[in-house]
Amino acid sequence: MIWEELQTDLEKIERDGLKRRRRTLESPCGPMARVDGRDFVSFCSNDYLGLANDPALIAAARDGAERWGVGSGASHLVSGHLAPHEILEQRLAAFVGAPAALLMTTGYMANIGIVPALVGRDDAVFADKLNHASLIDAVQLSRAHSQRYPHADVAALERLLANSTAKRKLILTDAVFSMDGDVAPLPQLFELAERYDAWLVVDDAHGFGVLGPQGRGSLAHFGIPVSERVVYMGTLGKAAGASGAFVAGSETVVEWLLQRARSYIFTTGSSPLIACALLASLDLIEQGDARRTQLVELAAQLRDGLAGSRWQLMPSPTAIQPIVVGDNHDTLRVASALYERGLWVPAIRPPTVPKGTSRLRVSLSAAHSTAQVAQLIDALHDLA
Ligand code: PMP
Repeated sequence: MIWEELQTDLEKIERDGLKRRRRTLESPCGPMARVDGRDFVSFCSNDYLGLANDPALIAAARDGAERWGVGSGASHLVSGHLAPHEILEQRLAAFVGAPAALLMTTGYMANIGIVPALVGRDDAVFADKLNHASLIDAVQLSRAHSQRYPHADVAALERLLANSTAKRKLILTDAVFSMDGDVAPLPQLFELAERYDAWLVVDDAHGFGVLGPQGRGSLAHFGIPVSERVVYMGTLGKAAGASGAFVAGSETVVEWLLQRARSYIFTTGSSPLIACALLASLDLIEQGDARRTQLVELAAQLRDGLAGSRWQLMPSPTAIQPIVVGDNHDTLRVASALYERGLWVPAIRPPTVPKGTSRLRVSLSAAHSTAQVAQLIDALHDLA
């Protein structure tokens, strides 16, 4: 029977230490998580600024629901584009310094919409090897010729670009790599995009709200303008504390995506109450220097605290601080030993990361205290 095959495959996943399990939270997203009646310090979420459960966002969502209801009722191009969506788009564009922006339902959907709308069969995409899964899927959907360059290797990328005869070229990269925490060499990528007349599509899921002046993102961090050839994607479910994403770029690019991005056109507009919450979130991001400073200080505390120990931190300047263990089973063992001690750190394994590089992905939030980070450092020293 065809379903017996699934059972065999599931058993293999379990044997390989690759089975994923969900835990059900009995508390809102925050530095503490209640699971099975027990409280854990959680280093799992991407709620970098601690906004997911912020009273201002909750109040804006509640007021938004009262004013606009819960559902948008249709896709944006039919009748699901409400005033809060429109205002949010304008504010997001202004915030990242782009002429226009288009609100999308999730970052995954934004990526699988953008790439196939910009390139097709006769074109080529040049993608960093460690790009997020949604970007990899986006390239496949586009049917463009895919060329992957070694992680952050600008010289290798240049060779590929120089040899390409593709009609249209597109450079595709995470701005902050989701499982490594390092930042892409965006100025050099931008320069290559200019030189080889390529699009530069930047996925700033983990930089928006965190990097750059007032959290305006990774491009702002480097002073790179959202010019005609740049397409900027930011997500709203991480530092912004809600859900959704947006694409910012020139008026032309945004209009083109509105006309052609299938994951924009053929889906119901997100709830207007989310847009209302995001407007409140943008205010807090803009005024969030204290939160960003706290984040930088916590990362420094963790790095200093583990320096010289057996725990190998990756060279990350961001809130994502992975500790590479290597083997899947070993990684799971360390994660469960931490869990026993009341510390929840996710074990990230293939296919999310390359084979042999399984890791603990410590993800910090401005909502964490120095005492909570100290607790993690102590536990790791204990386990070493
Ligand atoms: N891009 C990157 C780099 C991500 O890490 C993620 C989320 N893990 C996404 C896109 C997808 O965003 P969303 O969760 O909003 O679908």
